Amino acid sequence: MPAKVLVTRRQFEEEMDRLRAAADTVVLTRPAPATRPELLEAVRGCTAIFAHITDQIDAEVMDAAGDSLKVIAEFGVGYDNIDVNAASERNIAVGNTPGVLTETTADFAFALIQAAGRRLAESDRFVRKGEWKWFDPLDLLGQDINGSTLGIVGLGRIGSSVAKRALASGMNVVYHNRTQPEDDLGCTRVGSLDELLAKSDFVSIHCPLTPETNGLIGKAQLEKMPKHAVLINTARGPIVDTDALTDALRDGTIAYAALDVTNPEPIPTDHPLLSMENVTLLPHIASATVGTRRKMSQMTVDNILAVLRGELPPDCVNSERINWG
Ligand code: NAP
Repeated sequence: MPAKVLVTRRQFEEEMDRLRAAADTVVLTRPAPATRPELLEAVRGCTAIFAHITDQIDAEVMDAAGDSLKVIAEFGVGYDNIDVNAASERNIAVGNTPGVLTETTADFAFALIQAAGRRLAESDRFVRKGEWKWFDPLDLLGQDINGSTLGIVGLGRIGSSVAKRALASGMNVVYHNRTQPEDDLGCTRVGSLDELLAKSDFVSIHCPLTPETNGLIGKAQLEKMPKHAVLINTARGPIVDTDALTDALRDGTIAYAALDVTNPEPIPTDHPLLSMENVTLLPHIASATVGTRRKMSQMTVDNILAVLRGELPPDCVNSERINWG
């Protein structure tokens, strides 16, 4: 009997054809993510799940799939939607797509630094609303990018690529990691997150979402930042406490935020953030270029095809815990 592969969202057809050539492939093509009951039903008997950020893949889903499940291949570098421990306990490999989206995501994060600093989205709304009546030397004043300090939380692959762009633009770069990276590009490591927040004009978040980073930026942390500070989040929404950020932007604790990711996601259309001028909101598109999304799809399929051949995925986050004899 051919192996069954479930792909939970629509994907590039060329990549789906590679899966179809090797397995009985089911692609859920509705625009909306599968509901929980639909997911539990669809995974039954699968060898592989091609998963997305919109799927919570926990022990219940793995058990619904049954003993056939060998790999959960995430379309992305972050895999916080997968219970990796539960997968390892069941001898299920977890794959992801590191590296391939680094430069594209860094381009986007740096674009947000510039857009937030110079109030681009707000200025665009100003023109569209017909509020631009005449040149005003004191209107829509932004903050210089050059000469200011960027604080990077998580100087890993993406954080380092953002740092390169910032250094080339004349910014000073400080960072906070738990460990010392091999090459910090000449950035300055600070002793603590609090020190980074106090020193930075712009703070950009690039750590993964883990139990340790969930709620990392809350009321107390926002209060450490200067009043003119700008917060950029292209990592994961729950790293920032949304209510605390909303209050901080409303009462002037910080000046501005630009968010590719929010908690919840999507942000409800009646959320107070949507009525505030000093926040730019994007729909989780930091890796969304044709070339990069295509490569992510290809890597995810490569991870699945390897398992169908009896090998570990080339990019496997729990390889040391898998024993397929
Ligand atoms: P990476 O290379 O693993 O870098 C993550 C960095 O975070 C590491 O330098 C790590 O250093 C640091 N870190 C981990 N825990 C930390 C903590 N508690 N405090 C401070 N720093 C911490 O990962 P990456 O490829 O750059 O990706 C980073 C994240 O970006 C992904 O996990 C994903 O969630 C997100 N992402 C989002 C999008 C999007 O579409 N918006 C696209 C791509 C990626 P230490 O271990 O030394 O602390």
